[in-house]
Amino acid sequence: MNEELQQICNAYQMQLQENISLASHTTFHIGGNADFWIEINSTQGLGKLLQFCDEKKINYFVMGRGSNILASDNGYQGVILHLGNCFSEIKMQEMHDKIILTCQAGAMLSNIAKFAMEHSLTGMEALSGIPGTVGGALYMNAGAYGSEIKDIVIACSYINKFGKEYNLTSEDLNLSYRHSFFTEHAGAVITSVTICLEKGNPEEIAEKYADFSQRRKTKQPLNYPSAGSTFKRPEGSYASKLIDECGLKGYQIGGAQVSEKHAGFVINKANATCQDVLNLCQHVHDVVLEKTGYLLELEPVFLESQGGELSCS
Ligand SMILES: Cc1cc2nc3c(=O)[nH]c(=O)nc-3n(C[C@H](O)[C@H](O)[C@H](O)COP(=O)(O)OP(=O)(O)OC[C@H]3O[C@@H](n4cnc5c(N)ncnc54)[C@H](O)[C@@H]3O)c2cc1C
Repeated sequence: MNEELQQICNAYQMQLQENISLASHTTFHIGGNADFWIEINSTQGLGKLLQFCDEKKINYFVMGRGSNILASDNGYQGVILHLGNCFSEIKMQEMHDKIILTCQAGAMLSNIAKFAMEHSLTGMEALSGIPGTVGGALYMNAGAYGSEIKDIVIACSYINKFGKEYNLTSEDLNLSYRHSFFTEHAGAVITSVTICLEKGNPEEIAEKYADFSQRRKTKQPLNYPSAGSTFKRPEGSYASKLIDECGLKGYQIGGAQVSEKHAGFVINKANATCQDVLNLCQHVHDVVLEKTGYLLELEPVFLESQGGELSCS
């Protein structure tokens, strides 16, 4: 399959790499090696690869910035399709008083926010500090400080696992807390996301950016590798509050620790393995359940060859 993959990559001028460390491509800095890593640069090339993987029954996994992923210590036997810098164009279009941005899925939210700020557009401020791509954000309806991507997205395009391209409107996307059409349709790859912003006051926009950025720096353990919030918000409470109340701040297993700064983050304190993180999460889950009755669910996506779900039993 190696040679055939190389031929497709050559034909579409995409870079194919072998035996790539997932630890160096995820913000958690955890994980073994992936067999193949391909930098996607066009929908045509991506479509061809998806058809090939379908025909040959090859495992593939779509990765953006890797900021919501816990990768297995055993790595990944298959192809990682990376939608990053090579697929990150942002196009602007004016429609009456609204401004429409069509972003390739690999565009970082921070770059879209910067683009918006440069054009005095409001709507991206609260999402600007989420360290992922717009494709990754749409996949699980990322959100922060009371805003979600759901509030600004109006449409998207994707390619299904057989290599066919489709468009969806915001209604079709079925967005809710950490859920979308895509969390229900495994294998579909978001290629572009269209968002609608409004013209705003440049000083007010800049103030909001500075405020949200300051809040992250003060509250989050940004000096350690992590995948952001480790647990989803349970209905009726907050994971970080429950974990803190159970006295688990600073609790450590192997190299993984419940951050002392923010109980909602499990951090990679000292060369943690995936297993350290899983063991720690299981402990946190069990203690919180026993002491508070709340069931915590993991938020990051588990990347392993068997395509397992990340969950605590
Ligand atoms: C310090 C820190 C702070 C964070 N703060 C927040 C926050 O405030 N709010 C929040 O919601 N999240 C937060 N996160 C988590 C993470 O940044 C978001 O979930 C982000 O949207 C993930 O984007 P990504 O490109 O990194 O996706 P990845 O981590 O690469 O992938 C996540 C999932 O999306 C899928 N995916 C990615 N791209 C595509 C695509 N083009 N098509 C189909 N599927 C795709 C992947 O297959 C995977 O299942 C934080 C993470 C860190 C490390």
